[in-house]
Amino acid sequence: MDPMSSCLGFTSAGVPRVLRRGPLVNRQCSNRLISRHGIVMGARKEKKEDPDSGFYKNTVNLPSTNFNQRANAVKTEPEIQKFWADSKTYEKLSSENPKEVYSLHDGPPYANGDIHMGHALNKVLKDFLNRYQLLRGKKATLIPGWDCHGLPIELKVLQSLKSKERKDLTPSALRKKAKEFALKTIESQKASFQRLGVWASWDTPYLTLNPEYEAAQIEVFGKMFLEGYIYRGKKPVHWSPSSRTALAEAELEYPDEHISRSVYAAFSVMDADKSENELVKKHSDALSVAVWTTTPWTLPANRAVAVNPAIVYALAELEGRVLIVAKDLVEAVGQKLEKHLVVIGEVKGNDLAGLHYEHPIQDGLKCKILVGGDYITTESGTGLVHTAPGHGQEDYIVGMREGLEIFSPVDNAGRFTDEFCEGEFAGLSVLDDGNQAIIDHVSKRDVLLLEEKYNHKYPYDWRTKKPTIFRATEQWFASVEGFRDQALEAVRGVQWTPEAGERRIFNMIVGRNDWCISRQRTWGVPIPVFYDGDGEPVLNQGIISRVAELFREKGSDIWWELEADDLLPEEYRGTGLRKGMDTMDVWFDSGSSWNAVTKQSPEMTFPADVYLEGSDQHRGWFQSSLLTSVATQGQAPYKKVLTHGFVLDQNGLKMSKSVGNVVDPLKLVNGGNNQKTEPAYGADVLRLWVSSVDYSGDVLVGPEIIRTVSDSYRKIRNTLRYIVSNVNDYDPSTGMSFDELPALDKYMLRRLAAIAEDMEAAYETSSFVRLYQGLMRFATVDLSNFYLDIAKDRLYISGTDDYRRRSCQKVLYHLLEILTRAIAPILPHTAEDLWRNVHWKTTSSVFEAGWIKPESSWSLEDPETDAAMDVFRTVRTDVNKCLDAARNAKRIGSGLAAKVSLSVADDSVFEALQKFNPSSGESNTVDELSYYLLVSEVNLSKDKAVAEGAEFSLAGEESDVLVGVDVASGNKCDRCWVYSEHVGKSENHPLLCDRCEEVMTNIGVTSQPVPELAQ
Ligand SMILES: [Zn+2]
Repeated sequence: MDPMSSCLGFTSAGVPRVLRRGPLVNRQCSNRLISRHGIVMGARKEKKEDPDSGFYKNTVNLPSTNFNQRANAVKTEPEIQKFWADSKTYEKLSSENPKEVYSLHDGPPYANGDIHMGHALNKVLKDFLNRYQLLRGKKATLIPGWDCHGLPIELKVLQSLKSKERKDLTPSALRKKAKEFALKTIESQKASFQRLGVWASWDTPYLTLNPEYEAAQIEVFGKMFLEGYIYRGKKPVHWSPSSRTALAEAELEYPDEHISRSVYAAFSVMDADKSENELVKKHSDALSVAVWTTTPWTLPANRAVAVNPAIVYALAELEGRVLIVAKDLVEAVGQKLEKHLVVIGEVKGNDLAGLHYEHPIQDGLKCKILVGGDYITTESGTGLVHTAPGHGQEDYIVGMREGLEIFSPVDNAGRFTDEFCEGEFAGLSVLDDGNQAIIDHVSKRDVLLLEEKYNHKYPYDWRTKKPTIFRATEQWFASVEGFRDQALEAVRGVQWTPEAGERRIFNMIVGRNDWCISRQRTWGVPIPVFYDGDGEPVLNQGIISRVAELFREKGSDIWWELEADDLLPEEYRGTGLRKGMDTMDVWFDSGSSWNAVTKQSPEMTFPADVYLEGSDQHRGWFQSSLLTSVATQGQAPYKKVLTHGFVLDQNGLKMSKSVGNVVDPLKLVNGGNNQKTEPAYGADVLRLWVSSVDYSGDVLVGPEIIRTVSDSYRKIRNTLRYIVSNVNDYDPSTGMSFDELPALDKYMLRRLAAIAEDMEAAYETSSFVRLYQGLMRFATVDLSNFYLDIAKDRLYISGTDDYRRRSCQKVLYHLLEILTRAIAPILPHTAEDLWRNVHWKTTSSVFEAGWIKPESSWSLEDPETDAAMDVFRTVRTDVNKCLDAARNAKRIGSGLAAKVSLSVADDSVFEALQKFNPSSGESNTVDELSYYLLVSEVNLSKDKAVAEGAEFSLAGEESDVLVGVDVASGNKCDRCWVYSEHVGKSENHPLLCDRCEEVMTNIGVTSQPVPELAQ
């Protein structure tokens, strides 16, 4: 179809209130510009309608910029990072900014392995906060930290050695290798974080293995010790009798074939006659509690029997005894014993709590039945649990809670000591003859019901392949009891985001036991304690200061290098003291960072403004830092705590190498081996992903999610490119005032002021997902689909200095100034890249430009225009639908080939639209319905028949307006492709509309050359 010829012969009908005016830019014309300059925004692929004469195409205002359509992040981002490094942008801003210090204290990741998406999420969020504060003029420094000590690194070193090397390894040599490993890992993690564009003092990080750090940690330990919060006590640990050492969980293996000797035993209840339960009282003489254990050798250390209040217990007769067994297990126990148990009644767990029983081994010892916990089930055994606090973790917790003795009469070699039964069992191996002796003993005392072999998972020493035991040993503890209330008070004074964090950590501290801070390992900070001949610890202010000083000078290696006398202050030398060999729990290392970092660095404050880590740190770093700080400083080390969730795959599953769903942040940024399946998205796309997720809970990531975010990124980039490419000839100093602007532009600046306020609020509340969503909505709905769509005609077709063009450029200028800075914390590379392509810039980096400042005039309310614009925008949606119908019927190509009729019944809607329907000669050349709608004519009427009579008509779905579309009258302008009656009437420019002819006259093109000469 040739639209030009089909248009001929159409004339405008003489309907009321016909808007007759000059031509408009043809959408088709814009599309040609689009394809020529690579701007894809708002483009619709349409068939080219007629050949370009070529003469006028150079008279339109072409967009131009060096800000590339493609980010080419692999090349550009490192260039921009080098620019920041060379010009010391971060260093200058963080030290010379005019406002106060903003103190975000970095939690130290463990220096073990490559960074994962959780690390990336964490550091990028911190970078959002700091870059925003830098833009606001504050001194925001990030001193990055690493947690360097501890078992995982020690194990990695040990595993890398041959068994002979391992055997001959001295503590100092092991520590040297562990340090090398940690430092190497740190360098690799550091490079990864830098590639993500995270600004930090990378050359001066804090490492928990630094001598100054270790000294600061000793100070915290010392102060807590002197305050009386640190004591020596017993706690069960995995113990290997074969290698005579404590083992960590990671050093255990669980072979399938282990067989234990399990026993069912009955302990006689002593004071059931005093029970308030009638049934219990009635059978007081014969009552026994039935227990089951797979470690009979722990019976000497029995100190309680635990019941679960949620379980129903049966009283069952067995050969003159009345046994108490969980009701659900009566039958199973009967089968084991090959006896019939006759149930004579039921009681609840609470009815049994408080009764006492006779100790199964030790004469004259009276023990208690008490309430245990959820760990007591009816899956096996009897539903009542033999509790030996010196030999089991749950038993220990119950024991600590109930004040039971942590009894563990077993030595380093796994032999009974002489601490019970007057040494009758001393020297017997608990895993061998000692176990048998105890079984014999309880059998003689008529406590044993049954003994049988039992196959189950049991921990073995990974090195000796021999079974281990659980055994309480002397350990160092931090007692929370002394400052628990103070710690809870401090929790209340901190701002927790999300709020649920407060309850979480509060409850953890309410329920927490004393903190075991000692480890029998080599790769750590030593507990600076000495022991006298009786094994009693010797520690005081003088010793602590001396050790701290030595560590500060030489590092904690000195503890292994010097003899006790050389470590001690002079007055203790020659007194026979020996040094302890325990090291500190690594949580004490990182939990001392407030003292080693925030208190020592002038760039930080104590308390810090904010800690930001994963929500698992309520149990970890947030808590250890809080406890050490409250114990020694009487206050929390932070004012605010922000937490984020875990990173899961796009189906919400945990990432794991074996499943193959791991997203590697560096591969995402730099691309994988196959760039087709693993393209290089760049750091800014990863960062945009961080901003797009609600990090207060667990967040998802995967190839599809990243593709979607990448599309959003392209949308933002293209929008900004459109803007910057159309202000290349704009001089902001000569711009017009706000009052002079057309209504559309004032409206747009009001929208900009609103979005700017929103974005600032989002930063202030660290709600980046709100920022992301607001930005995407603004870029798509307000800019791409609306304002910038309408702007093309104003920018390209108008005379360079025309009011309608310069006013539009003023809006673009403000959009650019505000959006570039507002996105800079999230997309720093993109913002910087854009900033260096802004020709009027005054600062070399966008981060030196300061925070956004919308002008107050923009926010002046104009509810009438806003309401009218809202009405118009709903009508516009309906008009576009009707234009689509005409387009689908192949009656028009672009909207410019159309005449639109609007029949409006509602008076208020009519009034609103009438605002943008000036009478002839009163137009400001911007605020007109036909310009707004990108069509050739608009006919606004109250008469229903007008729109109904059109070739295409549509009852508005968004508005109550009836829309009609006809083919426009007149001929098509060769320059702007609009349809106009003027085309063909001018002698000088027969191919142009009246508006284009005026532009040509203004720039001195008096006539179109005859075609032969033009060739
Ligand atoms: Zn024209």
